Amino acid sequence: MTAQRCKIDTVTDTRYDLGEGPHWDAKRSEIFFVDAFVGDFHRVDSTGNDQKVHFDNVVTFIVPWEGEPDSFVVSKNQHICKLDWKSGALSELADVEVDMVGNRFNDGKCDPQGRLWAGTMATETSPGVLPAERGGLFSFNGTNVSKQASKVTLSNGLTWSLDQKLMFFIDSVKRHVYVFDFDNSNGTISNQRVLYDFNKNQDIGQHELPDGMTIDTDGHLWVACYDGGRILRIDPVAEKLLDYVQLPTTKITSLCFGGANLDTLYVTSASKDLPQEQLQSQPLAGSLFEVKLESVNAKGYEMANFKPQ
Ligand code: ZN
Repeated sequence: MTAQRCKIDTVTDTRYDLGEGPHWDAKRSEIFFVDAFVGDFHRVDSTGNDQKVHFDNVVTFIVPWEGEPDSFVVSKNQHICKLDWKSGALSELADVEVDMVGNRFNDGKCDPQGRLWAGTMATETSPGVLPAERGGLFSFNGTNVSKQASKVTLSNGLTWSLDQKLMFFIDSVKRHVYVFDFDNSNGTISNQRVLYDFNKNQDIGQHELPDGMTIDTDGHLWVACYDGGRILRIDPVAEKLLDYVQLPTTKITSLCFGGANLDTLYVTSASKDLPQEQLQSQPLAGSLFEVKLESVNAKGYEMANFKPQ
């Protein structure tokens, strides 16, 4: 198993606590992401200027609202909200699992039609340790929330195939990359199966957890490995690990394609929960990375904004 050749830079000088949910906005050439437990939504423009809006809550995704340049669909604990960036006003649109104390949203993204998909998880007692199968996977069309899957432990890594026929999903604690058949006109999923099992592959270290995920125009999956320090490139048809991108820190959380040609990877990472000696040996822990691929010619496609249906 070989590492790809690439050039890695940091986008800003900040070491975030737990960067997550990167979203490249192709129209504005800006990268949006969250610092989840700090409660900050960030946006970084092409000059590296990093703006943020802060809340005293856990925030896990931010997706631009189609047709309203200052609005975003975001999570706040177990709520789906509309954020007005200029005023910082946050209005609640929907919530899930309010009867399940401690449950909250994790990764969220929009499908090709612009519906929001986001999964949940129970509270961790320590990193990666939490009650099993207490979460779910939900979609939101702007009015109604639909529960799309249950028995989820730690929801992550949503992405869709270019032909819109498949949806990929990750349960980090189960260490499974799943695939569903996806119906883009109705916004439904079916036929869940394990596509790639971290528990059964000798190329995967025993501490590596699959986290965020994206897809390229060749249909290959790119999977961030929390506690693995790398991004795996997986062929979902052959169900085979092709190669990987090695990052200079271990807690890699998520990624997306961005840049003018959609051929740069934006990668979030965490410094949270790293012991002091590892923080010293990993001075870039928590950075937002920009990865220029050199040995592989890969590019992504434009990420969907939120469009109320
Ligand atoms: Zn994640």
